[in-house]
Amino acid sequence: MRIAAISSSCPHFGARDALKGIIYARPVKTDPAQRGIIDEALDELEDVEFNKTDVMYMRSLGITPAFNDGEEIVDFLEENEIPIQYGRFSDKDVHACLARGEEEGTRTVLINERYKNASSKPEILATAEAIAHEAGHAKDNDTSNSIQEELDNLALNVLVHRGFENKYPGIYQGQNSFLFREGVNLYPKLFFEFGADKTGLKDRVSEKYGHMKAGDDKHPASKMANEIKQLDLIA
Ligand SMILES: [Zn+2]
Repeated sequence: MRIAAISSSCPHFGARDALKGIIYARPVKTDPAQRGIIDEALDELEDVEFNKTDVMYMRSLGITPAFNDGEEIVDFLEENEIPIQYGRFSDKDVHACLARGEEEGTRTVLINERYKNASSKPEILATAEAIAHEAGHAKDNDTSNSIQEELDNLALNVLVHRGFENKYPGIYQGQNSFLFREGVNLYPKLFFEFGADKTGLKDRVSEKYGHMKAGDDKHPASKMANEIKQLDLIA
């Protein structure tokens, strides 16, 4: 595949280039050990269950996750033949991306090559979370993106994360690298912050995605998405 222009739906968890609306990534060669990490991440993802109360909670925030459990996510990726590969990114702080190929409808989930040797269990689970998020972007199969779409897909990260925590209690404790601090461990805290305001979540999403429109055809803006857009406009 040639260098893929990544649509603005892609910047994740801290893309400064998100402000420019575009980042670049291209697949890199993946050795068998690295392929093994991706395969193990998919195996873990396939088994993960979402907590029903968590799903109801997300809905109460105006968020609609695109999948009901990990098995649906993996089935979707397989049925649509969406490959998962490591890629070299124009922004080292972007964890993962959905690349659209030049041929219409072709999509690839790219994981930043900086994680290609991240083979500890928590890192493999983190890779699974990133795959879940990108699968959400792939599912609507359009090039438009919005604050609401990001909220819906960030919720997938969080649902998968909490499913793993339930399966492996304490697995994420003491994980303080950038990957965890700025993504994996951050969003669950922000989504489940006590109280109705969710100020931390809104501030964070506004900072990363506030330049996008509040909603789009397939992801109509919730009250929260509109409030996040307002934060961006007054900033
Ligand atoms: Zn995203």
